[in-house]
Amino acid sequence: MTLQAVKMRSRGFICVNAHPEGCRRNVEQQIEAIASSRPAGLAGPKNVLVIGASTGYGLASRIAAAWGFGARTLGIFFERVPDGDRTATAGYYNSVGFHERARTNSLFAASLNCDAFADSAKRDAIAILKREMAPVDLVIYSLASPRRTHPETGQTHESVLRPIGKEYRSKTIELDSERVVEVSIHPASKKEIADTVAVMGGDDWRRWIRALLDEGLLAQGARTLAYSYIGPEMTWPIYRDGTIGMAKKDLEATAAALDAELRNRVGGRAWISVNKAVVTQASVAIPVVPLYKSLLFKIMKAKGLHEGALEQMRRLFFEHLADGQSAKTDEGNRIRLDDREMRPDVQQGIATLWPRVATENLHAMGDFAGYKRDFRNLFGFEVEGVDYNAAVETDVHW
Ligand code: NAD
Repeated sequence: MTLQAVKMRSRGFICVNAHPEGCRRNVEQQIEAIASSRPAGLAGPKNVLVIGASTGYGLASRIAAAWGFGARTLGIFFERVPDGDRTATAGYYNSVGFHERARTNSLFAASLNCDAFADSAKRDAIAILKREMAPVDLVIYSLASPRRTHPETGQTHESVLRPIGKEYRSKTIELDSERVVEVSIHPASKKEIADTVAVMGGDDWRRWIRALLDEGLLAQGARTLAYSYIGPEMTWPIYRDGTIGMAKKDLEATAAALDAELRNRVGGRAWISVNKAVVTQASVAIPVVPLYKSLLFKIMKAKGLHEGALEQMRRLFFEHLADGQSAKTDEGNRIRLDDREMRPDVQQGIATLWPRVATENLHAMGDFAGYKRDFRNLFGFEVEGVDYNAAVETDVHW
């Protein structure tokens, strides 16, 4: 038992602790949003594996599968556990909240807190799947990681967020000081590009799917999806044409290869879903993008188009993956959930504001306050209804 009042602690912009009750409420809200908007009679995949299931898009996917379709879920994630008076990470508390509610609703859920890149993670997952959930009909791959230790070479690769070929100069928000400043980012070396592809490209996704296929654990017609981002041309030097973009292109090539393999072996499919820019822990590290998001959110909110990870996953699961629906894809075989973000009127709005946005008008032109609140919410802070002076149990388990 470790009862304590948990106040937000941050290093600059980044929160270094998490609030269990705030995280639990966030998960509850997402569950309610799915359960209350689920069309009557909606059905879909029944045995769902989510890799990267504790925060952001992966957590929202897991919730959409469980409370949208009544699916049994296995979630894989890598989170810090509580240790004395040191809190766990938000993803750990989110998962405790997920399990708590799954138990109440008699939904089967299993979780593995481990390094998904390791062979042992695949073995442990396979053992659970065989025992509890075979055959699997949907696999979501939603990892976002700064590093990966390769299971064969033992080498650790660190991903970087850099342009390729030439220096990139742009505006960005200095998150700690809330100042809009010029940033210049040096191009990546060949090794940094290769390392980023090794971490965020498709190799590990392929290993997961091959391991499941080889064990005969994928159902006839099983589907798998990984998530990507494209965004506007303005961010391409640091995103689409940068190191992370190379990794995403590798992920897309992997989707094409897995699609052929799955069609052949189990009559299944593999897709990339290109998702909208939302506030998640991983995404805050990308230079320039937080400023872009502040402007984007303001415009999308004003037009009634704003969506977070949950709303995006609701569309994916209800409109593309539910029984009776077929995935709607673009010419590159990608599902495009970024359609509203990429609408010409939305992007035109950003293009108009971009040259003028500065420290003095940041809050008027953009929704940086909303961005900051969303970010703190991810850690269970500034969540409505939570009494942050009250002692809470931080040593909780599922
Ligand atoms: P996130 O940081 O919220 O989630 C990352 C997840 O990966 C967490 O569950 C974490 O525990 C897990 N993880 C990290 N390293 C791991 C490891 N070694 N082993 C097991 N689990 C590990 O990130 P997110 O933004 O939801 O990103 C998920 C995917 O969505 C990424 O592919 C990202 O590129 C994509 N995407 C994100 C955005 C965005 O705006 N955030 C937009 C489009 C696509």
